[in-house]
Amino acid sequence: TERDENTTTWVEFSSQSLQHNVRVVRRLGKDCRILAMVKANGYGHGANWATRVLAPFVDGFGVARLAEAQCLRAQLPEARIVLMGSRLGEAQYRWCADNGVETVVHDEHVATQLAAMSLPRPLSVWLKLNVGMNRLGMSPEAFCRSHPRLAAAPGIGHIVHMSHFSDADDPDPSETRKQVARMRQCSGQFGEVPLSMANSAGIIAHPDSHGSWLRPGIMLYGDDPTNTLSGDLALKPVMTFKSRIVAIRDIAAGEGIGYSRRYRATQPRRIATVGAGYGDGYPRHAPDGTPLLIKGQRAPLAGRVSMDLLTVDISDLVDVSVGDEVTLWGEGLPAAEVGQHCGTISYELFTRVTERVARYHR
Ligand code: PLP
Repeated sequence: TERDENTTTWVEFSSQSLQHNVRVVRRLGKDCRILAMVKANGYGHGANWATRVLAPFVDGFGVARLAEAQCLRAQLPEARIVLMGSRLGEAQYRWCADNGVETVVHDEHVATQLAAMSLPRPLSVWLKLNVGMNRLGMSPEAFCRSHPRLAAAPGIGHIVHMSHFSDADDPDPSETRKQVARMRQCSGQFGEVPLSMANSAGIIAHPDSHGSWLRPGIMLYGDDPTNTLSGDLALKPVMTFKSRIVAIRDIAAGEGIGYSRRYRATQPRRIATVGAGYGDGYPRHAPDGTPLLIKGQRAPLAGRVSMDLLTVDISDLVDVSVGDEVTLWGEGLPAAEVGQHCGTISYELFTRVTERVARYHR
């Protein structure tokens, strides 16, 4: 459906920006393969749409749930799909093998179980080493025991070695350097096995971590977790979250706005009420002062966000009227900046836009 002037709250997605961002990944990691992370519905951008736009530019897709792998397989019969660390039963591993979905193996018991299974089609696995996050992944000893077992098992296809960084966005590179060294030390014992370490921050800040497979997520969607890319390499926001002004009023000094009248005016103020709230995925805990964008001008949130509405101080803005578009984040207002005010990150904002919000992919 087409958006009209009565659509109150919507998100726009730019395929041009998504393509630009994946080209940036390609330029940073010229000789690497790209596993585009499309888990959590393509970081909230629509997995079907994102995979369709990205397919010509990447070598595979990463998901986090079996159901995501199943949807993606139905849509893309030939694509390389990798299911990140999950807990699966034997029947699910069989489904993955039957359907050519590769799985991350982060636990030695699972490695042993898979090596012993007889599978009709080989299951390709990404063997995961814990390099410091202490979330998933094997110890070096378990990793080194598991690799030869899997390599010798008839039911196992390709093996890729992988790890995931805990600190790649830290301006101090020392921890990530140690994590790269741990992975290389372990993997190197088995010859030339394809290696995958880098998330977006690793891709941007740690070229020595590129290995054979890059796993970009957030940078595809336009947020640079290192804040260092510029010029041609600057990323472009893919999602723009928009709403409209539904009412404008002038309030006197001493009056409050919204629930609990959290915002109290110390001088006369002009307040716009915008048709978006936490029921749309705008964070309820956004504090006063969180920026919004109206006709290219920034205006501060004033008052508690409610379910369907929020209020913004437009006293310093010119030429604003009821019906005008308001950008909550996206083009002109980075989601990361909004996230900083709200004590969160763009990832969470992107994945929390709710069902009722209209979506327009362009
Ligand atoms: N690889 C793994 C295993 C992940 O869990 C994620 C996301 O959390 C990524 C890669 C992509 O990370 P980013 O979105 O920071 O690029």
